[in-house]
Amino acid sequence: MGTLIWNAQIYTPAEILSPGWLLIENRTITRIGRGQPPPAELENTHEKLDAAHHRLLPGLIDLHIHGAMGFEFMDADLHAIEEIAQFLVQHGVTAFLATTWAAPHATLLKALDAIGNAYGRIRNGATLLGAYLEGPYMNPNRAGAQAIQFIRQATNHEEALSLIHHEMVKVVSLAPEFPENFWLIDTCVSRGITVAAGHTSATYEQMQVAVARGVRLLTHCFNAMSPFHHREPGVVGAGMTMPELRCELIADNVHVHPLAQRILYQLRGCEGIVLVSDSTRVTGLPDGQYILDNRPVQVKQGKVALLDGTLAGSGLTLEQALKNFAKAAGVPLEEAILSASLYPARAIGIAHQKGSLEPGKDADLFLMDEDGNILFTMVEGKIVYRRS
Ligand SMILES: [Zn+2]
Repeated sequence: MGTLIWNAQIYTPAEILSPGWLLIENRTITRIGRGQPPPAELENTHEKLDAAHHRLLPGLIDLHIHGAMGFEFMDADLHAIEEIAQFLVQHGVTAFLATTWAAPHATLLKALDAIGNAYGRIRNGATLLGAYLEGPYMNPNRAGAQAIQFIRQATNHEEALSLIHHEMVKVVSLAPEFPENFWLIDTCVSRGITVAAGHTSATYEQMQVAVARGVRLLTHCFNAMSPFHHREPGVVGAGMTMPELRCELIADNVHVHPLAQRILYQLRGCEGIVLVSDSTRVTGLPDGQYILDNRPVQVKQGKVALLDGTLAGSGLTLEQALKNFAKAAGVPLEEAILSASLYPARAIGIAHQKGSLEPGKDADLFLMDEDGNILFTMVEGKIVYRRS
């Protein structure tokens, strides 16, 4: 019974087994070995996949993504969620959080309802792990491309509680410098929701307080936050130095210069970095003008901007982010990939189940050839994408 993948370069967190083999039963990796599989395994497994010595990599986990292929989670539509999940597996992403942005309460509830209904395994797509609330409790001075009129503080407790009511909410990103938001940080921490600082003007001292309260993640480090200054190190200074914080990084070389990516890597290592796409509905579509959150945007060579030039999310895939980051930081793939698989899993507390090729974990993986092409992607033991 089960599925055997053999003759692969298997990327485990500790080493690369080359060649190696991996056995899957139902949705779980049950055994991993070096060399050729034992004859008994070869005989008894029902499905055998010869990996032709290509790289077998852990499925990527995108914690911060708004959409792709013309669809967004704010559309509050099951079909949109399926289309995005099916696009993701073509790029090696096997699990993700659906990210919302600042909007009226009713709009957010509608989006969260749709995410809650689709929560879990999606047919022929990546697993929807839950929701990431990016706002609305942010600093209007760091709105970025978020609609400023919907940015507010968590003064209405009933409203905020209704947004985090569903157990599938995994990350709440807010501006931790506002005392009105302190209670929400405490409530999220007590419920096991990862709290991120994002779209924030916090000082370094305010970040120390926030981390003491339990803030553990920075929403797209360097973007929409107080920058590093030698007299006021800001949120970026906190991300560069505080071991409690993991830093999301949009490694598209537009949001963050390759040198800044390298600096963050040199200070924090891959363990301090979580690669995210922050991709919007234009991802996967050709260059041109589109409407994003009711406003026109221009897409040109992977850059997505409002007409005034403000960056409006990205057109990035996590697959490309991984390649960009490895190059910018000067690290080999086996190390860089941890920032797109194991560390995002740790950031939301699911590393016992996902994030690496190890016995006992979900069979979330993909096979990549020498040229970086993804040959197939498997989610929870099922092949959901094959390159034609
Ligand atoms: Zn975002």
